[in-house]
Amino acid sequence: IKLPNHSEQRPQDDHPPVVQFAVLDKLLNLGRANSLWPMTFGLACCAIEMMATGASRFDLDRFGAGVFRPAPKQSDVMIVAGTISKKMAPAIVTLYEQMPHPKWVIAMGNCAISGGPFVFEGQYGIVEGADKILPVDVYIPGCPPRPEALIEGLLLLEEKLTGSRRFPRVEPEVGP
Ligand code: SF4
Repeated sequence: IKLPNHSEQRPQDDHPPVVQFAVLDKLLNLGRANSLWPMTFGLACCAIEMMATGASRFDLDRFGAGVFRPAPKQSDVMIVAGTISKKMAPAIVTLYEQMPHPKWVIAMGNCAISGGPFVFEGQYGIVEGADKILPVDVYIPGCPPRPEALIEGLLLLEEKLTGSRRFPRVEPEVGP
């Protein structure tokens, strides 16, 4: 299967603004960083932790990113949460292409980073990382990463947009 490949492309670079307004850009990025809209989209077990992140205990809404959208045209963040099979890859790229600019990609979990436990000699069905087909902005390791790690990944993306950090680093909860 020939995989579509956007990994070398930064869509923001493809469509530079005709006129640059530094202050306006800063303001827009502040707004974007505080209202990231992830797409409702999960591929495997990591998606369960992503759902938990949006639920009441971790309450992603506190960080402005709790509104998961059911359509790519209403989303600006794709969280690749789970294993990418080669059959699924073209659909993932199509969804990515349908998202408006500017847009960002988070690779959540070891499968999305490198293929995870499914990479072994002779494997033929798994894409070895989201960055083989998409331009990834933030990597969140773990199998699966806990909700705190996803929140931290979103805060890193916010930091990438605004150049500063609003919240201190999220520490994992210690179990009972
Ligand atoms: Fe499942 Fe682990 Fe892969 Fe996440 S990284 S999709 S938990 S196997």
